[in-house]
Parts: sequence; structure tokens; C-alpha cells
Amino acid sequence: MKYVCGANQCTGCMACVDICPKEAITIHDDIAAFNAVIQEEKCVNCGACYRVCQNNNMVKLQQAQNWYQGWAENVETRSAASSGGLASELMASFVRTGGKVCSCSFKNGKFLFSIESQPANLGKFAGSKYVKSNPNGIYKQIASELRNGKKLMFIGLPCQVAGLKKYITPDLQKNLYTVDMICHGTPSVKVLERFLAQYGYTLKDLHDILFRIKDRRQIAEKYKPIVRNGIMDCYSIAFMYALCYTENCYHCSFAKKERISDITIGDSWGSALDLSEQKKGISLVLCQTKKGQKLLEQANLHLEDADREQAILYNQQLVMPSRMPKARNMFLEGLKRGKKFNRLVCMAKPSKYFKQLMKRMLMDLHIYKDPSVRAYSIFISVKNVVSSEKNESN
Ligand SMILES: Cc1cc2nc3c(=O)[nH]c(=O)nc-3n(C[C@H](O)[C@H](O)[C@H](O)COP(=O)(O)OP(=O)(O)OC[C@H]3O[C@@H](n4cnc5c(N)ncnc54)[C@H](O)[C@@H]3O)c2cc1C
Repeated sequence: MKYVCGANQCTGCMACVDICPKEAITIHDDIAAFNAVIQEEKCVNCGACYRVCQNNNMVKLQQAQNWYQGWAENVETRSAASSGGLASELMASFVRTGGKVCSCSFKNGKFLFSIESQPANLGKFAGSKYVKSNPNGIYKQIASELRNGKKLMFIGLPCQVAGLKKYITPDLQKNLYTVDMICHGTPSVKVLERFLAQYGYTLKDLHDILFRIKDRRQIAEKYKPIVRNGIMDCYSIAFMYALCYTENCYHCSFAKKERISDITIGDSWGSALDLSEQKKGISLVLCQTKKGQKLLEQANLHLEDADREQAILYNQQLVMPSRMPKARNMFLEGLKRGKKFNRLVCMAKPSKYFKQLMKRMLMDLHIYKDPSVRAYSIFISVKNVVSSEKNESN
């Protein structure tokens, strides 16, 4: 088989799929790795896919000029976000100043990108989706917006920003603003499907999916966790402990302080700010360019200087990619052979698995009450009141 880049090194950015004039490229996802396969009978050897691939020809990275920690001033925006709500506020202010934004949302069982210009439509983007999302087709649309003179802000994973920057011609870069995330690594969506299948769900069954609220990681649909409230489920364990990423993530070119975008956002873990602020979510912000600084200034954000060394200490992805755990290949091979997801997590990370099992038993016996369960219930009831008020006013 002929690949666009080295075997198993494809990031899944889809830039080669978008640029190919003959639709000759398909992405093969075998759970453990992605590969961009060229169908030789369609290929005309134009070389466009090789040139646009970030693995064959890396994009320039830039040092961050300023490091901040902060959050969206709007309480609702901050509370609906995974961290401090930076992404949502940056989008809202960009749209207010006449721009369009592009990011990822969950719809009909898929994690896809779309372009929006209406403030009312931005809510769908909020929240971290801990999977490899699919930018297929979006670079073409973005190029067309930029060609029409529109200002556009793209928020995505660093490898997706790299794909976009390689795709867009230099004359169109002026009106393009980019925001990337500090990234641990991403699993194929098939990993999530295997996890859900144990509970009788398919992704298409879910109207919505939530991976995380602040420091609480638990897969939920419409705020209803898939497993018992307060327990870290096996998908979240596999994600947090790097068991399930595609091969390329363990050699990620973007897991460093030098960044690909105008702005980089992440979590301000290890912040010295008050615990009450930490519970509401504090984002870490790295600003690389003047364009990025302008975006931050026009947004309604609370920002203060961050301690760089502390930020790096708590966010290893700013120095190096996630290390591949010894059990990772066993875990993914097991999934491919149809073994039970939770059983594989138990074998790969027994201490993490049994800790959650023990917690669950103590909760069932009413011996232990997880304080986050109560906080979560309050969060859900506030959300429900807000959304029913919104529905009434519509
Ligand atoms: C796979 C993944 C791994 C991450 N790893 C780390 C980490 O190791 N350390 C760290 O500090 N932060 C990490 N983050 C970032 C963190 O989860 C928050 O997204 C970030 O702190 C911004 O929070 P927020 O409240 O501003 O925005 P959020 O509400 O989290 O919104 C984030 C924005 O990113 C977009 N987005 C979410 N998921 C995806 C996706 N899968 N693909 C493309 N775009 C997406 C959303 O559409 C939205 O525009 C990761 C995020 C992802 C998606």
C-alpha cells in the first residue's frame, strides 16, 4: 500500500484528503494508528498530498511571548466549559467583531467541524471532546471564506491547525486566526464506540456527549453519566493514562513550548489561585503573536500572568509527548480482538481500576459520600433551570 507519510504516523488532520483533486486518499483507522492510503489507480502523481502533509514538511512553530491564566468573565460561559471558558469567550468576541469561527461539535454520532457566525449557535462548540475529531472537508470551506475576504478563527488540536496552515495559501493567512489546545493525545473514535457498546449505546444513540466538567472526568449524556455518578469510568481512565492514543501521538511534534497557533489554551493545573477559583475552572493561555494578543484584548476575559515553570511542571505536554505505557499495545490489540473494554482497563491499569471499584462499593453502601457528586447535582440543576428559562424565552 502507498501512504502519504510514514507508516502509522498519520495525525488524521485530513489536509491530504481535502487537497487531492482526484479523491484518491482514504484514511485507514485500525484503532492503534491512522494511515493516509493513496489509491494508486486514481492517483495522477501531482504530489499535492505529499506537500500538504505536516509529517513530510513541518510548519514553523513560535515561542510564546506571554503566559497567562484566566477565565471568561461571563459566569455562564465559564461554567459550561471544560476549563475556564476561554475558547467560548474568544469565539463570542470574534463573532461580535464581524468574524466567523470554526470548531468541533458532536452531532449525529460524529465529531465534526463547522463554521458559525451567529452568537446563538456557538454553544455547541463548548466542551473538550477527548477523541480524534474529523476535520474532513473543512479546510476547503475555510479557504473559500478567506478568499471571500472573511476573518476566520479556527480552534482545534495542534495537528489540525498544522493541517490548516499547510492547506491555506500564504496570501490567505492574513485573515486567519488560530487557537490550538495543549493536547495529551487522541484516541480513534472506535475506542469510544467500544466503551459505549458495553452499556448498550452507540454514538448515534447519544443526543449529546460530555467528557468532562472541570476536574471531573466522566462520560455523560446530557449530564447523565454512563456509569454511576462520581466514578471515573474506564474510558476516562484509558484516556487519562495514555492507553488508547493513536501511534503518532506518542511522537507528537507539538508537545512543546513552541506552538503552532496565535494562541494556545489548556488547563492551569497547579495554579496558586484560590481553590474556589480552581473549582470554577482556570485556563492556561500562551500567546505567540500580535494577532493572538489582539484576540485576547477584545475578549471579555479575566487574565493574569501565569508562573511558567509551575505551568510546565503540571502540564508535561508542554515539554514532551505522552509516554506510551507498556500495556498500551496489549490494550488496543485486545480491543481489536473484541475483548471487553473494562476488563482490558482492569488488566492494564489495575490500581486505577480497583480504586474506582472500591469507591463505587463504598458509595453503594453509603459509607463514602463523594463531595463532587453533590457539586455535580447542583451544577446540573442550575443548568436545567438556565436551559428551561432559555426555552421559555424562545
Ligand atoms: C484531546 C484533548 C486533549 C487535551 N489535553 C490537554 C492536556 O493534556 N493539558 C491541558 O492543559 N489541556 C488539555 N486539553 C485542553 C482542555 O481540555 C480544554 O479544552 C482547554 O483547557 C480549554 O478549555 P476551555 O474551557 O477554554 O474550552 P472548552 O470548553 O474545553 O472548549 C474547547 C474548544 O476546543 C474544541 N475542541 C474540543 N475537543 C476537540 C477535539 N477533539 N478536536 C478539535 N477541537 C476540539 C471545542 O470545539 C472548543 O472550541 C485537551 C483537549 C483535548 C480536546
